[in-house]
Amino acid sequence: MKKQGLLLIISGPSGSGKGTIVEQLKAKEDFSVSISATTRAPRGAEQDGVHYFFRTKEEFQHMIDNQELLEWAEFCGNRYGTPRTYVTEKMMQGQNVILEIEVQGALQVKKLYPKGILIFLVPPNLEELGRRLTNRGTEDKEAINRRIHRALEEMEFVQEYDYVVINDTIEQATEDILSIVKAESMKCSRNKEIKKIFKGEI
Ligand code: 5GP
Repeated sequence: MKKQGLLLIISGPSGSGKGTIVEQLKAKEDFSVSISATTRAPRGAEQDGVHYFFRTKEEFQHMIDNQELLEWAEFCGNRYGTPRTYVTEKMMQGQNVILEIEVQGALQVKKLYPKGILIFLVPPNLEELGRRLTNRGTEDKEAINRRIHRALEEMEFVQEYDYVVINDTIEQATEDILSIVKAESMKCSRNKEIKKIFKGEI
């Protein structure tokens, strides 16, 4: 019998290193990473269907109306949402799935699916966050300031999460998340069939 996969929901301010850490997690273990839909324009070398599904406002609204999204939220003037089918299919196949989404969406998912694991990734401090956003070089000063402001707002939600991981170094933060996944997969509440497995009944 196949166990249902874990759902990892990773949030954190823009510039906290979520994208890089998700890449590392994928390189180390077999995670399925959901690709979100967004009304934001592609940034730098971003490609449709790889980094995001880039959609018009109308197309996005159509996805909402058709209940194609597991959750969606507005962030700094753009809409972002998680396509439902991919996530449910992968989890049913026993795959661990990662959503890299902001706080409003993360809390919606937790309400729908309390077994989801909420992880909040934070940069070491505000100064470092500003530096990372500037060094990224993909946004102008105004957009960077908006994201820093939003980061401070998002930090207010840390207490609603299950885990907080400080991204001092990519390697350490990646290992920390893998430890969380390992411990979560061993929770008794996730292993209710263990007696039957032990007796060879399934
Ligand atoms: P960015 O524009 O930097 O790619 O993303 C902005 C924010 O939107 C990030 O915090 C990112 O995690 C979040 N985000 C990306 N995809 C989704 C999604 O499907 N749903 C929600 N709620 N947030 C998302």
